[in-house]
Amino acid sequence: MSRYHQLTASEAKIIEKGGTEPPGSGESHHREGIYLCRRCDLPLYLSKDKFDSGCGWPSFDDEIPGAIKRIPDGHRVEIRCARCDGHLGHVFEGEGFTAKNVRHCVNSLSMRFNPAFINGKERAIFGGGCFWGIQRDFSDFETVVGYTGGELVNPSYEEVCSGKSGHTEAIEILFDHKVTYESLIKRFYQVHSPGLQKCQYKSVIFYLTEEQRQIALKLKQGATEVLPASQFYRAEEYHQHYSLFNPD
Ligand SMILES: [Zn+2]
Repeated sequence: MSRYHQLTASEAKIIEKGGTEPPGSGESHHREGIYLCRRCDLPLYLSKDKFDSGCGWPSFDDEIPGAIKRIPDGHRVEIRCARCDGHLGHVFEGEGFTAKNVRHCVNSLSMRFNPAFINGKERAIFGGGCFWGIQRDFSDFETVVGYTGGELVNPSYEEVCSGKSGHTEAIEILFDHKVTYESLIKRFYQVHSPGLQKCQYKSVIFYLTEEQRQIALKLKQGATEVLPASQFYRAEEYHQHYSLFNPD
């Protein structure tokens, strides 16, 4: 089961027809987060692997394992999203830009940025069973419940519950320097069972930065998965702070 984002004409020209955007036309920034496939949400690159090549397109010297498909096309190697086959750009080796000696030259229109910070606060995203309960357990933070990690864009609760969309019920926690990501993970393990791996009720830590990934791996317990964060879809309003309005 898959459903993709609607593309604008200029996005479709690149993603579906293998086109190239004019150099320097994309937004240039060095914010922390993850770059997703614009069409299907698959996490492709971490911001720590982005570098300035001066070529006019976003450049990365590494990829999220399994996310990129390579297709030699004569003198160059085309790169595509491993899930939806959308065109991303080309990959070059041996140019000496970084120690890894690889440059993924990617159209900015082929990607969507999933930021690690919103309004100066860092995001932590966990899947720990039914999101009603886990939101109650983090009620001293600003939180939103939603769906992430699946293969359907804009999933409904019914689609998530059918198990066919592949999404996990998850919580997004916004936190500042008064607490650490580590302390949030410790609480996460106190309030849910890390053995959960059933349909939308999975134990998962969705990381947004290399630092979060390392902390999550260091503290990992049981069957909990540590995965790159895909698009987070806010759940329908009646799910938000459900246990507050339904104490039984
Ligand atoms: Zn894709």
